[in-house]
Amino acid sequence: MPTPSTPPPSYWWTSAVPARPPLGADVEADVVIVGGGIAGTSLAWTLVEQGASVVLLEAGRLAGEASGRNAGFLLAIPAEPYAERIALWGREGARAFLQLGRRTHQRLAHMAQALRLDCDYRLTGSLRLTRDELESEDIRESMPELRHDGFPMREIALADALPEHARGHFHAAFEVPEDGVLDPVRFLHGLAAATEERGGQLFEDSRVTGARWQDGVWECHANGYRACGRTLVICTNAWAPKLVPALEPLIVPRRGQMLSTVPLDVRFDTRPVYANYGYQYWRQLGDGRLVMGGWRNTAFDAETGFDTNTTPGIQGAIEQGLADLVPGGVTIEHRWAGTMGFARDGRPLVGWLDAAHHLAICAGFTGHGLGMGAACTEDLTDVLSFKRAPGISTLDPLRFGELRQQRDGIVSLGATTSS
Ligand SMILES: Cc1cc2nc3c(=O)[nH]c(=O)nc-3n(C[C@H](O)[C@H](O)[C@H](O)COP(=O)(O)OP(=O)(O)OC[C@H]3O[C@@H](n4cnc5c(N)ncnc54)[C@H](O)[C@@H]3O)c2cc1C
Repeated sequence: MPTPSTPPPSYWWTSAVPARPPLGADVEADVVIVGGGIAGTSLAWTLVEQGASVVLLEAGRLAGEASGRNAGFLLAIPAEPYAERIALWGREGARAFLQLGRRTHQRLAHMAQALRLDCDYRLTGSLRLTRDELESEDIRESMPELRHDGFPMREIALADALPEHARGHFHAAFEVPEDGVLDPVRFLHGLAAATEERGGQLFEDSRVTGARWQDGVWECHANGYRACGRTLVICTNAWAPKLVPALEPLIVPRRGQMLSTVPLDVRFDTRPVYANYGYQYWRQLGDGRLVMGGWRNTAFDAETGFDTNTTPGIQGAIEQGLADLVPGGVTIEHRWAGTMGFARDGRPLVGWLDAAHHLAICAGFTGHGLGMGAACTEDLTDVLSFKRAPGISTLDPLRFGELRQQRDGIVSLGATTSS
């Protein structure tokens, strides 16, 4: 993972953002959060807004991993056909997923405005482009179910979505009116600054190596110091099993790759685009740059693990997709990869891992964390106060038998528990 002297390679990291200090003394707070991506940072903000004291420990930079290496899409409707989601999760589970997406977008838009975050947030709507008849039919079949659940999607002419030279590479186009985009690094660092103004203590370069529950308090270890709190929340997404081995069968690391071009003269639709079941995605920024990524379905077996180097195979596949849009060739400025935490049933784990020992989790976003994380963390604060949180009831980690079997609870994390 990166240190403050080596900013991550994503385009978003070309913005200058201030570094936070590493943990350099023992600290305590009501809640200790491990992980400074969108999950950890939005949780920290929500808690300080409610008057709780918070310490957040991040191993590298805030937004240094997936949260600062994504496409910046805020999409309520996931890429996979909705009918498939209903078959997998049931109607209630599928609808809850959409609602968390809508609420997250509303929440991020509200934060961007109320906190005056300079993050290029825009309400744009989004496009789904299909590559063949089968994919078009999959989306069309889902549309009545989506409409029924209050998430309208509309088929439009390809001519209303793409310039003429690119249309031949696609089969059909659909639009969703309510989606949006932002710059994830500027958003997250702005939110972090607002959290600090309210007294939140955020530390970078502070990897938690272990933690233990003792006398009703969690004691976390990082840089040889202790951060103590009555409640501990794991927001480390793909890395969660490294602290809680019981999660190993439930959350696995998957790589996603992207690139960005120089500013282009040719202008595309300003809406973010998902194509080929969401395995291909792009958007054009205000200055004409294209950011584009995905194509991991061309090498599923290779796109696993924690390695964040880009590969010629996936980058070449993205470039071929780029050539569909810009046939004359274009200079690429940045290439990068990020690690996502994929959950076994495609839904994040949000809630208590062990309520008796005040240990909670918000991880396993399966590639949708920017678009659904902030509503999850808002509801998680209700769970932390032992209130009902119906919005995330279908994401309860204890839906997995492996976690229910931890009968004695989880009282120590990671390898190091000595002080
Ligand atoms: C290429 C790519 C494109 C994507 N595009 C989109 C998109 O457009 N829209 C969308 O909704 N989602 C997208 N995603 C997914 C989204 O980025 C993630 O789901 C989301 O960022 C997850 O946030 P998080 O906070 O859970 O995890 P992360 O951002 O991974 O944060 C976890 C943090 O925990 C830290 N950590 C790990 N172990 C420790 C430890 N022991 N101690 C302290 N800290 C630790 C890590 O350093 C990391 O910063 C994309 C992902 C990728 C890779």
